[in-house]
Amino acid sequence: MWYTGIKTISNYKQIPFDRIMLYRPNSSQPQAYRAKTILPMMPENHYIEDGLLIIQDDIIKETGYYKQLRKSFQGDIHDLGPYVVVPGLINAHTHLELSHLQGQTVLQKGFESWVKSLLQLPMQDIDPTTLQNVFKNLEQNGIAGIGDISGHNPKTLLQNLRESGSLYRLFLEFLGFKPPKTDNIDWPAHVSPNKNPELSVAGHALYSTHPNTLQLLKNWTTQNHRPFSIHLAENPGEIELFTTGRGEFADFLKNSLLPETFVPPYTTPVNYADQLGLLDHNTLAVHCVHANSSDIQVLAETRTSVCLCPRSNYNINLESPPWEEMLESGVSLCLGTDSLCSNSDLNLWNEAEQLLQTGSKEVPLKEIMKLLTINPSRALGLDNDLGSLEPGKRGCFTLVPERFTENIPI
Ligand SMILES: [Zn+2]
Repeated sequence: MWYTGIKTISNYKQIPFDRIMLYRPNSSQPQAYRAKTILPMMPENHYIEDGLLIIQDDIIKETGYYKQLRKSFQGDIHDLGPYVVVPGLINAHTHLELSHLQGQTVLQKGFESWVKSLLQLPMQDIDPTTLQNVFKNLEQNGIAGIGDISGHNPKTLLQNLRESGSLYRLFLEFLGFKPPKTDNIDWPAHVSPNKNPELSVAGHALYSTHPNTLQLLKNWTTQNHRPFSIHLAENPGEIELFTTGRGEFADFLKNSLLPETFVPPYTTPVNYADQLGLLDHNTLAVHCVHANSSDIQVLAETRTSVCLCPRSNYNINLESPPWEEMLESGVSLCLGTDSLCSNSDLNLWNEAEQLLQTGSKEVPLKEIMKLLTINPSRALGLDNDLGSLEPGKRGCFTLVPERFTENIPI
C-alpha cells in the first residue's frame, strides 16, 4: 500500500497539492523531488533552500542542493513548489485497537469519569473496517511511523501494522496488581518477541501494574535492546495517590485494581518510577502532565523520552503538559495522539497546533519537527529507517501544512 506520490511526471511543472500525505514512491527508477525548502532533520543541515531529494527502491539516495545534485541526475524531477519537505512523521503513542470506540467516552469531566466510561465499552472487540480506515487516515496525514499500544489484540494489531506498510513499534501492555509468578514474561499465544522484532512491552501505569511486573518488563526491554513505555503522571489523582495515599482516584482504585494493603511511596510518580529503575534513555514515558520542576530534572538526567499527548490531556481533563519547561531542561520530547477514545483524529499537525497554543513563546519549525520525527524515531528504536531524510533511510517524506510555515518562524 505504498503511495506512488505524484502520478503525472512533468519536468519542472509545479504540482498542486490539496492534501498533506505521506509520499512513498515505490519505483526501481530513481525519483527526484525538488522543493523550495527541505528540512532533513540531519545535524549538519538545518535547512536546504532549493533542495533535491532522490529516492529509489524505497530508499533515500541523496538529499542536497538542487544545483549540485541535478548535474548527475538523469531522471525526471517532480517539482513540489513552495512547500517545506520533512521526513515522514511518527505518532509516538496511540492505541489503534480502541479506534472503534471513538466518540463513546465521557470527555472534559476529569480522568476518573473518562476511565469509568471507557471501562463500560467493549474494549476487547476489534473492528477490521475501522482499523483499515485508520491506517489510510494515518498515511493521508503524513505519518510513516507508529508507536502503538495493545492490551487486548496484539496478534491482530501486529498483522494489520505489518500489512499497512508503516514502520512501527507495538508495545504489549501489561496491567494488573498481582505480582508476577515467575521471572519470565507471560506472552500471549501466537505473539512471539523472537519472531517479531517490532514487538516490545509496556506497563500500563504505576497505579495499575504491580511494581515487580514493571521491573520485570523493564529488565526484559534492557536485555533485548527494545524500548519500554509507561503512562506516567497523567492525572492529578495519580499524584495524590502516590504522595498521600488518599483521594477520590485512590478510592476508585482501591475498589477495583489496588489491594487494600497498598502503601503509597509518599513521593511523586516520576520519582517513584525512578526509584523502581524504570527511567532511562530506553523508556518512553507518556503524558507527564503533572511533572513538577524536580520531576522534569529527573526526566532530563535519566534521559527518559517523554511523549506528550496534549489534545488527549485537554479533552479528558482540560489540562496541558509543562512542555516548555521540559524543552528548556533538555528532555527529549515526542508527540502522540493517544487513542481515538480521547481524541478526534490521529493527525499530528493538529496535535502540534494544540501544543503551540498552550505555549508562551514562538518555537522555530525545526524544534517542533524534532517532536514529530527524529526524537520519536530514537525513542521507538526506528531511527535506522525513519526520523530524518538521511541517505539510506526509508524513501518517504511529507510536506509541512502552510499554516505552520506562515505562523511559525523557520
Ligand atoms: Zn495511552
